[in-house]
Amino acid sequence: MSDTSAATLPNGWEMVIGLEVHCELSTATKLFCGCPNQFGNEPNTNVCPVCLGLPGSLPVVNASAVEYAMRLGRALHCDVHRSVFARKNYFYPDMPKDYQVSQYDLPTNVEGWLELPDGSRVGIERAHIEEDTGKSTHVGGGGRIHEAGYSLVDYNRAGVPLVEIVGKPDLRTAEAARQYVSELRAIILAVDVSDAKMEEGSMRVDANVSVRRPGEPFGTRCEIKNLNSLRSLGRAIDYEARRQIDLLEAGERIIQQTRHWDEADGRTHTLRSKEEAEDYRYFAEPDLVPLDPTEADVAAIDASIPPLPADRRRALADAAGVEPAAAAMCVERDLDGLALVAIEAGAAPDRVLTHIDNNLAVDGADRLAPALFARLVGMETGGELTATQAKTVLADMVETGRSPEEIAAERGFEAMDTGALEGIVDELIAEHSDEWASFCDGNQKVAGFFVGAVMKATKGQADGKAVTALLRQKAEA
Ligand code: ADP
Ligand code: MG
Ligand code: ZN
Repeated sequence: MSDTSAATLPNGWEMVIGLEVHCELSTATKLFCGCPNQFGNEPNTNVCPVCLGLPGSLPVVNASAVEYAMRLGRALHCDVHRSVFARKNYFYPDMPKDYQVSQYDLPTNVEGWLELPDGSRVGIERAHIEEDTGKSTHVGGGGRIHEAGYSLVDYNRAGVPLVEIVGKPDLRTAEAARQYVSELRAIILAVDVSDAKMEEGSMRVDANVSVRRPGEPFGTRCEIKNLNSLRSLGRAIDYEARRQIDLLEAGERIIQQTRHWDEADGRTHTLRSKEEAEDYRYFAEPDLVPLDPTEADVAAIDASIPPLPADRRRALADAAGVEPAAAAMCVERDLDGLALVAIEAGAAPDRVLTHIDNNLAVDGADRLAPALFARLVGMETGGELTATQAKTVLADMVETGRSPEEIAAERGFEAMDTGALEGIVDELIAEHSDEWASFCDGNQKVAGFFVGAVMKATKGQADGKAVTALLRQKAEA
């Protein structure tokens, strides 16, 4: 787990980061019409008068989209309010109505939070519903609009339901921002409202970044677009914070801007000066009624929410007697159920977590029988198998589904009898009297030589820790 509190900036500067995340909801149809909501179809095949914005067409809200948005909002601990759709007016060729139906002063979900693996909370300002735009492709000139020969527009995505999750400016490092996005993605997947694929654009992240000295008021921010991987997100934030610090230290001011991240050259570039809300001339959408869920509606949504990643980390951490961060990998790999049952069956929690973290990042790990896994851990802690042997047996168990006893016997992984081990150690001491004298003089490095020699003599069957203990015992005798 990397440190999310460390300040890596020069001269006491601190970053302030707030993320806006767009998430496409995986409903069967679009937000205001019956067109299929599908990625990757032939351009302009999933369209109708409503999503093409033809005159006289009228929107009808998709109940599933509203339910999905509320489910995500409640999973983010938001209050669900009466909400009103609003028109956000601007012109762009991929938006045929010349306005986007969104929510403005009355969004569906407000004032929530999510919890990072280290237990810290990041505030959520709002999570509102809006429609996606179409997609422009600029042909020629490397895909850049000003150098393109012509442009094409695909309206398949126009009207696809989105939730925009606006995070509070609570993040202080690029790493924390990455963790926030990972956590949000895990929550979105848990409540099953989107496939949340950054690379396909079903989850899109914009990062607002400013810098300040700790304790000072927030500085002027810039918003970075086009972050389509966690790696880009982290790099862009670090670059942008340093750019702002350089400007401020040179006595200049930060101008609030929307900037574009260029993955190839590793910089952010000016896209446009920031629009203000007034520029959009928001007004309530006259063709749609407000959404006004009852308490019973919200209760039904709450009942449909499965245990969330943070709850699962806490449950496993409690059972294993560790901090929630130590349980993060098990939950991320969806193997916390396996860990819980194995621990319940008496397996040593630290070995269970270590095996899952280090040795079970493999296909088929989810099919491992918890009882057999617990028995393997028992053989290891009981001294029948060394750590290395246990790892080998575990890999075989995942592949073949056989029992650890059967695999250990087949591979000749039998417990080294203490007497036999001592015999081998005594022989080696006699053969290497100089090294032994050096070890007895306190040269710990020679221990490795003896352990290696024992391993070779036993074909890896001896337990390294037992050998070291035996060597110490003999040196002190
Ligand atoms: P806008 O409507 O202009 O996008 P918002 O108030 O909705 O502005 O804020 C957008 C995002 O900017 C939020 O995610 C918020 O956390 C973030 N943000 C606000 N102020 C700052 C700041 N000074 N530094 C970094 N991020 C900020
Ligand atoms: Mg915004
Ligand atoms: Zn349509």
